[in-house]
Amino acid sequence: MSSMITRRGALQGASALSGLAIAGSSVSSAIAQDGAKKSRSKLILLGTSAGSPPNPFRSACANLVVVDDTPYLIDCGAGTCRQIAMSGVPVANVRHIFITHHHSDHTADYGNVLQLGAGAGRLGRVDAFGPPPLQQMTERFFDMIRPEMENRIKDGVRPYEKDIHVHEISTETLVHQDALVKVTSALVEHLPTYPAFAYRFDTPDRSITFSGDTGYCEAVAKLGKDTDILVHEVQHMTIMEEYLRKGGRNRDPGPFMKHMRETHTSPEDAGKIATMANARMLVFSHIGPQTNPPIPDAAFIDAARQTYSGPIVVASDLMTL
Ligand SMILES: [Zn+2]
Ligand SMILES: [Zn+2]
Repeated sequence: MSSMITRRGALQGASALSGLAIAGSSVSSAIAQDGAKKSRSKLILLGTSAGSPPNPFRSACANLVVVDDTPYLIDCGAGTCRQIAMSGVPVANVRHIFITHHHSDHTADYGNVLQLGAGAGRLGRVDAFGPPPLQQMTERFFDMIRPEMENRIKDGVRPYEKDIHVHEISTETLVHQDALVKVTSALVEHLPTYPAFAYRFDTPDRSITFSGDTGYCEAVAKLGKDTDILVHEVQHMTIMEEYLRKGGRNRDPGPFMKHMRETHTSPEDAGKIATMANARMLVFSHIGPQTNPPIPDAAFIDAARQTYSGPIVVASDLMTL
């Protein structure tokens, strides 16, 4: 891992990308080219924002693990299809989808990936994994788009509803295995949303673990033991509280901060989990709070540095590792 992206390079890359999604592609492609020489797998951080309100700085949560040419999509927040297109991966090639939990910043584009991928010429089955009621959500989505879908089919799109195979998961398990990946899950702390999952992807050359949305959760460290990359959600609690006290989001800071502390993770605690896991790199994504101007990367890195000594990357949209 350290040969693919140096600690200094990671920190410089994160710094150069601070708050500027438009700058992401050039720096991330440089990182990707460096990594591509040695690696069969890459991680593309499609969308790095936390929470549902759209913002101009980061797209909602979505990630791709690409092994050889096969993409695996983890979460589908609003804008995911557009971000996939921006990454250079054909949306028609996305045939494995993993939902961590049912919040709209992770699911708003789920149906759109199914629908727009078909319109883009997808062939073959799609496997979608996630907590209940994913099956019902999928059926209701097809009910919603049926008139449009039937018109498209008349215009030559292959019938695709029966291509979609939903696998509901309710507990820690081996979620999926094929020749390129093994995907395992852990239950995380995100009440009242239950179940909510972390996923670990073991590929032929490395492992990538996604915390999903969670409060401080040692199950993430256990799932991510010795992982090459731990992609952890993060909420800068101090800045969030200040933001709310100044009237941000029109919410009472008291109850909202209690909710945030129970269901999301501070950079210091994410660093503790990375240390406990012996993770080789900590990548912050699902980054909050969203403020204007955005919080500098250094605020997250400095806080996490107190508890984790390895490389820390504050992701930006479309960064590739
Ligand atoms: Zn979220
Ligand atoms: Zn959530």
